[in-house]
Amino acid sequence: MPVKVETYDRVEEAARALSASRSARFLGGGTLVMRAVNAGDQSFDTIIRLRDPDFRTIRMQGDGLVIGAGVTMAALVANRDAAFLAPVARVIGGPAIRNMATVGGNLFASGNYGDLAVALLALGATVQLAGSGSRSMPIDEFLRDRERHATSLVQSVTVPRPRDPAAFRFTKVSRVKPKGVSLMSIAALLPQSGGRVQGARVAYGAMGPTPLRAIAVERALEGQALDAAAIDRAAALAVEGIAPPTDALASSWYRAEVAGVHLKRLLAGERR
Ligand SMILES: Cc1cc2nc3c(=O)[nH]c(=O)nc-3n(C[C@H](O)[C@H](O)[C@H](O)COP(=O)(O)OP(=O)(O)OC[C@H]3O[C@@H](n4cnc5c(N)ncnc54)[C@H](O)[C@@H]3O)c2cc1C
Repeated sequence: MPVKVETYDRVEEAARALSASRSARFLGGGTLVMRAVNAGDQSFDTIIRLRDPDFRTIRMQGDGLVIGAGVTMAALVANRDAAFLAPVARVIGGPAIRNMATVGGNLFASGNYGDLAVALLALGATVQLAGSGSRSMPIDEFLRDRERHATSLVQSVTVPRPRDPAAFRFTKVSRVKPKGVSLMSIAALLPQSGGRVQGARVAYGAMGPTPLRAIAVERALEGQALDAAAIDRAAALAVEGIAPPTDALASSWYRAEVAGVHLKRLLAGERR
């Protein structure tokens, strides 16, 4: 089946075209969309492209960073204001993938992909949708209803910058290094006040259909000093309320067994 390509200069036009057709796909960097085209995916017949330069910019807004959905992983790594996200963007694919893969596309990536979305979830980002229904929503809500947003154009994400860069941590567990995909990824925001954790957010990738929060872990950490006893208690709850999937990389059982080990290392500040 031939695939039609439509190119727009303005974000509103692209958003309108995308929302008008269930058989259209937006093209970010195309690392997943073009793979689907090459594999003969019949679920779409139109590709929507956007040339708006604003879509690829990163700018400060108060204490936050507004990152255009068309910003690539390579551009994130190179941006000084986004330095806290560089360790995440740097482990996504190899150089060729990072030069193409976008922030917007990462929000829709499923399975073992979506490492940046995991970090954005832990950081409490908000997602801006373009078009007639233009609105902002917490990333938690966006990810929960991700299927419903398949015909919405993500314009940007706004990320609060951690006051203390050491409060944000990320680890990617993969069988092959570098360039392996995630068996699981974990991101944690652990702000402290008076030596105690206040406002912990912990998120997993590849542990469910979309990136998800480890609520039991967050509750165990809240108000605690980040010492060995608190870390042990939190790690013991690593998969509380979570049903990890079985896929080609690992079984559900294996993920459940090792989640606490990796979480404990991350909370203890051991980088791997
Ligand atoms: C070899 C290889 C290695 C990879 N390694 C990793 C990895 O280590 N970690 C990781 O997280 N991912 C990885 N990926 C997956 C992928 O490259 C990334 O998730 C990337 O960020 C997807 O972005 P993209 O711009 O290429 O998405 P695209 O392929 O352009 O789009 C993906 C989906 O998102 C939708 N979309 C894209 N942008 C928008 C937008 N602004 N608004 C609405 N919908 C949009 C598209 O319509 C499509 O449905 C890998 C992929 C490959 C092929």
